[in-house]
Amino acid sequence: MSRRPTAVLRLGSLGEVVQAGAITAQLAPVVFVTRPAWCALAAQLPGVVEARAAGPTLDLSDVDGVVDLQGSLRSRWLSRGAPGACRRLDRADLARRLRVWFKAAPPPPLLQRYAEAAGLPPPTGPWMAGSGAGPGVEGWGLVPGAAWANKRWPAARWSALIQRMPGPHTLFGGPEDGPLLAQIAEGSGRSPRVIAERGFVQTLPALAACAGVIGGDTGLSHLARALGRPTLVLLGPTTAEDGHWTGHPTTLSRPLPCRPCGRFGGPVCAMGDHACMQEITVDEVILAAQAMVSG
Ligand code: SF4
Repeated sequence: MSRRPTAVLRLGSLGEVVQAGAITAQLAPVVFVTRPAWCALAAQLPGVVEARAAGPTLDLSDVDGVVDLQGSLRSRWLSRGAPGACRRLDRADLARRLRVWFKAAPPPPLLQRYAEAAGLPPPTGPWMAGSGAGPGVEGWGLVPGAAWANKRWPAARWSALIQRMPGPHTLFGGPEDGPLLAQIAEGSGRSPRVIAERGFVQTLPALAACAGVIGGDTGLSHLARALGRPTLVLLGPTTAEDGHWTGHPTTLSRPLPCRPCGRFGGPVCAMGDHACMQEITVDEVILAAQAMVSG
């Protein structure tokens, strides 16, 4: 008789769902419960046999155990009555707030807290390497968008990167990033490939085929790293120490005392100058990117 699946719940951002894939292989077979927008990607995570949309009609009567990586009231409600044991994430909400307000010590990395919630050893390595492999290696992937404005490097600098780095280039984003990607492409005076979709049909193979990826602190950058692509992350209002990029050391940032200024990034710079991103130059991004792929 086949084993009943474990339900894994993560409803948050794309990056948080991608990172959940670091433990799903060890929990296989997995039914992954997430927001409808992330179901197509969640279905690609290792060990996942089915992705189900979180909602009032969600049925988990066929699972044996729940790993709740959200740890929220909603995820508790969604997993109520599911058969088997339920383990939950330590959200570290207070530690994350103290980190932003008083620059206190960061909480344990998210991947470590995921593993602890599931009762597993800490994950290692790119957990989606080999997934969605496309035909050959296709130059640079660029991920300029981010849900929070403070996390975005200026559009003109992305255009300058395309002008100055050897191609081909692919601009990645979700449908909401379409206007930004078009602006960057137009500003470059070149014709980069643009992929702005939610279904990941083109995104996954194209990202997996990139020789290197440059992006902000956002979900598609996490996906590139999970796919095993060399990924340079430009960090502004968030920091590598805050948990999401631990073990992913290729980052560029400025050591400003105001960082981190928000748990998620924030819409407007409280200092008025957005120095955390404005001070990162095109020259240093090119140098860091070249060093990353050659080293
Ligand atoms: S410059 Fe400081 S306050 Fe402004 S967005 Fe960056 S980290 Fe936040």
